[in-house]
Amino acid sequence: MSNGTAEKKDPYLRVLVTGGAGFLGSHLCRRLVAQGHEVVCLDNFFTSQKTNVADLIGKPNFELIRHDVTTPFFIECDQIYNMACPASPVHYQYNPVKTMKTSVLGAMNMLGLAKRVKARLLQASTSEVYGDPEVSPQPEEYWGKVNCNGVRSCYDEGKRAAETLCFDYHRQNGVDIRVARIFNTYGPGMHPYDGRVVSNFIMQAINGEDITVYGEGKQTRSFCFVDDLVDGLMKLMNQTSTIGPVNIGNPGEFTIKQLAELAIKHTGSSSKIVHLPLPGDDPQQRKPDITKAREILGWEPKIKLEDGLPKAVAYFSSLDLSRFRKPTK
Ligand code: NAD
Ligand code: UDP
Repeated sequence: MSNGTAEKKDPYLRVLVTGGAGFLGSHLCRRLVAQGHEVVCLDNFFTSQKTNVADLIGKPNFELIRHDVTTPFFIECDQIYNMACPASPVHYQYNPVKTMKTSVLGAMNMLGLAKRVKARLLQASTSEVYGDPEVSPQPEEYWGKVNCNGVRSCYDEGKRAAETLCFDYHRQNGVDIRVARIFNTYGPGMHPYDGRVVSNFIMQAINGEDITVYGEGKQTRSFCFVDDLVDGLMKLMNQTSTIGPVNIGNPGEFTIKQLAELAIKHTGSSSKIVHLPLPGDDPQQRKPDITKAREILGWEPKIKLEDGLPKAVAYFSSLDLSRFRKPTK
């Protein structure tokens, strides 16, 4: 049996990362492996591929296991980052019933494991728990305005239920939990055909294709560079006594139209902006209030969008696209 995080003398922890081959998960695995921890990466490769962690395979403190979190998994570990879940609307709406199962059954299975081996669990929650918010910026105390039967509900409500499970396992069974409400994150490692706005716009700009702005492009998002985000997640995980969800994101707020213009600027592209219909339930605004992260974790993002976008452009420009599958839908 594991002794649990608190009693363990060894500075190197056994860390389970579900969704570890995905965009955020692979960055996290890389950082944890570099710190010397023993990392087990669990993934069903729905939105990722083994090559995302190819650089880690073969390292003595890294193990890759193909597994679906909707079924239980047993291992001795000290910490669990529960990252498994498709995050792009294109992917999570592809099989919405499976998305809900991944969030809810996945959280239940991982919380059950955390309870059994006394591991600390960090749940990857999302700004989507705020739905189409009536307040801006969104503080953690805001309960949100979420449609429970729309096209985004499988993701939003799945993540809300996962949060509920975290707090109930904490209250009922004393499971040591952390809940990170992650806001839109971008950077190297994103799947080029992921369907999210940053990858779409940069790929379109690089290829000289039309930039597809949905609706008028007045809706806002706040974009966090992946290195900042991973710093925030690891600080939250390793903070001794944080109870309650914590927003992790960059408060810099941009309209989608502004993002399209920045993508054109940073690629030097001659692409034109075109407007397509706005998808159902698309939130109008999103901007994190990160007071809590600043005060409790001493964390705030360091990389502004203007500085992070060129890094993302360099990454997308360097990709061998034959390595990546296009989404089936
Ligand atoms: P991603 O799609 O790149 O990665 C998700 C990973 O989970 C993939 O490797 C995928 O194959 C795996 N996965 C999906 N379903 C699974 C299942 N049933 N069993 C095992 N593995 C499964 O997405 P990401 O951007 O890396 O997001 C990671 C987590 O962070 C997700 O939980 C997401 O909801 C959350 N999040 C991300 C963002 C963001 O902007 N990137 C914002 C808010 C929340
Ligand atoms: N969007 C867009 N064009 C695209 C992809 C997305 O205008 O090609 C818009 C989308 O409608 C939303 C915002 O960009 O308003 C962010 O979309 P994304 O899919 O990245 O994530 P979301 O924050 O909606 O979950």
